[in-house]
Amino acid sequence: MKLVTPETWLHAPGEALVVGLGRSGKAVASLLARRGFRVTATDERALDPSDPAVAPLAALGVDLVLGGHPEALAARPWQFVAKSPGIPYHQAFIAKLIQASHVIVTDVEIASWFETRPIYAITGSNGKTTTTTLVGEMLKASGYRPIVAGNIGTPVCDVVDQPGDLLVLEVSSFQLDGTHTFHPQGGALLNFYPAHIDYHGSYEAYQQAKWKLFANQTADDVAILNWDQALVRDRASQLAPRVCGFSLEGAPFDEGVGVIDGALVAVRGRERTAILPVEHVALPGRHNLQNAAAAAAVALAAGASVEAVARVLATFQGVEHRLEFVREVSGVRYYNDSKATNPDAARQALRSFERGIVWIAGGLDRGISFDPLLPDISGRVRAAVLLGETREQLRDVIARAGVPTFVLVSSMEEAVHEASRIAEPGDVVLLSPACASWDMFPSYEVRGSMFKEAVHRL
Ligand code: ADP
Repeated sequence: MKLVTPETWLHAPGEALVVGLGRSGKAVASLLARRGFRVTATDERALDPSDPAVAPLAALGVDLVLGGHPEALAARPWQFVAKSPGIPYHQAFIAKLIQASHVIVTDVEIASWFETRPIYAITGSNGKTTTTTLVGEMLKASGYRPIVAGNIGTPVCDVVDQPGDLLVLEVSSFQLDGTHTFHPQGGALLNFYPAHIDYHGSYEAYQQAKWKLFANQTADDVAILNWDQALVRDRASQLAPRVCGFSLEGAPFDEGVGVIDGALVAVRGRERTAILPVEHVALPGRHNLQNAAAAAAVALAAGASVEAVARVLATFQGVEHRLEFVREVSGVRYYNDSKATNPDAARQALRSFERGIVWIAGGLDRGISFDPLLPDISGRVRAAVLLGETREQLRDVIARAGVPTFVLVSSMEEAVHEASRIAEPGDVVLLSPACASWDMFPSYEVRGSMFKEAVHRL
């Protein structure tokens, strides 16, 4: 369903339906109600309208339909329907809305109707939060007042009335799938890895959703693309906006940020401006160097200075729980990578250090094989401290990788204590569990925080 005229709706706000009252749904309902729309909001959860989670919406006049989505709602003449990004299109009620030919949008689309400030939006399978955070820091260091929002935390509809010069948004494929007129001045596509296939139906459909980032851009806008991934680079010529690349492999482009002779360099035609030597980038790991290059390209396109970009890259210690440097104790460096809830993420962390890793791993058993990690463990991991449901499986993998030392533990406190006992000066103690946290912790955030607290007690 093509959406053509949001402008007319803004002049004559009508009735809108909001489906899903998570953080982003609540922000959507609130924004629309404040802008004069008559909003009905529905959620599966049987909340009481006086529940603090939804009471502020009721106070704004939002009509709340809680404890399910009555079929009759699908038959009403909504101007448009705002769907929470996480609800898949094949969900029964959404399918009914589609059948009834309703226009379905997500929060990013709606926020963009009300925004007049420049928007720089970042998407990709991995590295979104790190890159988005870096871009915000770089712009701040350059004297701007950026608003960092979206999938990263603060819902985008909550910042529409916040003071600031420009928006730096992390956007997911789920959000992009529900855009029609969304038009960022800058859009960055970091990478593609097969993900969320169950939601989108296929890897192709997932990619298609991400390409929507550039759909409304013109020659006055900029697209920032991963020049090392052919899947991304090969479509550059089909895009309307000016294209910037970022590359670690020396792929040539007219404009962008690449690694040349051991330094990150800003390229513009024949002009080359050194940003900083690669070894001065504070974030560990090749994947983070890629994020650093991407962030530099976005920030420079948005008006950041080379000096500010360099300063941030030399000092930024990481987003919490993502290969976050915690502390050095007796010559041993401690890193919290609790966000590594699957083997692929743990691989990135292991590859970030050449040797001397005391690896804390294990967690919820999802029946996934850890065998693909064998080559990344051998030679790098010196000892392993294993906890959670998967500790026995991981012990087998560790043994097959030729790692002689391992300990099985049953709490994070014990894990940190054992790791500190085993580690020698120059080693790295790395919490990168390769598993979800729910066997022992309420979330990966709590797991990471408990790790950090234990490290600070050493
Ligand atoms: P996202 O917001 O896309 O989930 P994050 O910045 O939060 O990304 O990083 C999450 C994890 O993804 C990291 O801990 C790391 O394991 C992996 N990762 C980050 N950046 C990249 C990258 N550029 N390429 C591949 N994997 C990455």
